[in-house]
Amino acid sequence: MNSDRHYESLDPEDWDEMRALSHRMVDDAIDYLEKVDRRPVWQPVPEDIATRFESPVPREPAGADAVYREFLESVFPYPMGNIHPRFWAWYMGNGTVLGALADFLAAIMNPNLGGGNHVANLVEGQVVNWMKEMLDIPMSSSGLLVSGGSMANFVGLAVARNTKSGFDVRQLGMHASHRQLTVYASAEIHSCIQKAVELLGLGSNSLRKISVNDDFTINIEALEAAISADRKSGLQPICIIGNAGTINTGAIDDLAALADLSEREELWFHVDGAIGAVAVLAENVKEQLSGIERADSVALDLHKWMHIPFEAGCVLVRHDEAHRKTFSLTPEYLEHDNTRGLAAGRLWFSDYGLQLSRQFRALKVWMSIKEHGLDRFGRMMTRNIKQAHYLGQLIEKEQDMELMAPIGLNIVCFRFNPGKMDDETLNALNKEILIQLQEQGICAPSYTTLNGRYCLRAAIANHRSVQNDFDVLVEQVVRIGRKLTKQCR
Ligand SMILES: *Cc1c(COP(=O)(O)O)cnc(C)c1O
Repeated sequence: MNSDRHYESLDPEDWDEMRALSHRMVDDAIDYLEKVDRRPVWQPVPEDIATRFESPVPREPAGADAVYREFLESVFPYPMGNIHPRFWAWYMGNGTVLGALADFLAAIMNPNLGGGNHVANLVEGQVVNWMKEMLDIPMSSSGLLVSGGSMANFVGLAVARNTKSGFDVRQLGMHASHRQLTVYASAEIHSCIQKAVELLGLGSNSLRKISVNDDFTINIEALEAAISADRKSGLQPICIIGNAGTINTGAIDDLAALADLSEREELWFHVDGAIGAVAVLAENVKEQLSGIERADSVALDLHKWMHIPFEAGCVLVRHDEAHRKTFSLTPEYLEHDNTRGLAAGRLWFSDYGLQLSRQFRALKVWMSIKEHGLDRFGRMMTRNIKQAHYLGQLIEKEQDMELMAPIGLNIVCFRFNPGKMDDETLNALNKEILIQLQEQGICAPSYTTLNGRYCLRAAIANHRSVQNDFDVLVEQVVRIGRKLTKQCR
């Protein structure tokens, strides 16, 4: 078809060669995943490889084959590790094979989901509707896919601010506010909430971090007292944020109580569900999330416990009009009340978020959910929760280790503690254990600090982990810990 096209373009000169290369790439990729558990979880990038990334920008073509060879040598062998069965650092997903292939197909079609009358928008619309269905949120709600939890929280809080401020923030700006607007969340809230509050011009002082109970859930009485005290001093509370799974320990706030309180106080109720909203699919968690369906807005992450390849998050807003009013701005060149042609229809996602040009991230979600069905994702979550408790039992049985917090959802905080050491020594010891676990490629937990004590933290959102992986974790913590303490003596 292209035989008469002799002018230069970015297409391959030889389609058959490109087809052969593409097949090779797919074969290599599938091998890579099939054998993922035979490689170290993580290894540092060797110096000689790292320096390759300092070469200047190429002016002349290297050709696809050479570039792919370079990728195989310099990039592919040094993954972050989160596709490995013994990766439990921070809080991440592993990806799905079909999700990755879908990302490829999405890039081939390469549509722009800012708007327009084309099928990709229907795919995203359906995925958003599935999320409403899953959380039992009214179908009249609005929503869109975003890069992740941070952006989802930002969008939800932007609508909250504009709706509850009582003046036209878009036109007048925050300096028109007569009173300080305040937002409430537990002290365990994720840092992205503070970033959002700062970027929305509210100021981080306005994020009231409320104390938590022993299980790291928000203390409702302290929250009520804070709201009432702020009202008395003339401030203007606008929003309560509930945690559906905190980042440190996986604690789920009493969302129903927060919904009641928000209703009584006429505040916006936002839920940060980046970790736990999708756990409505897990039979052993669903009940704890009761109340999430009453939120005014919910942020959820699909690249974490749903394992969709990065990036994929979603925000749902109960009040479509308020959502649209916060973000819609339509110059002539983007007008779209047409009924025919490429610009027809009202489903313009750019009316609901910050981005105009938007990738087709919905396809990987749509294909992964269709491939597996939601219930299978739920079973993977249920298994992770059981694995967290299995790990907890192993730790409690091991005399030189201790649990540092109640296990919330799938997050286990623990440390090596052979006794007769102060916290400072234990902090340093556990830091070294963690580094050695990672450097030796054994497994990758991460860390946090609870009440001033450094702990190792396993966030088990991994559809590839099997029971034995946790035996390995405990064995190796003890091995490294004992070796280090012997060296000290
Ligand atoms: C990860 C996380 C976020 C941020 O989500 P990103 O997808 O990383 O932007 C927000 N809140 C909680 C509780 C999280 O775990």
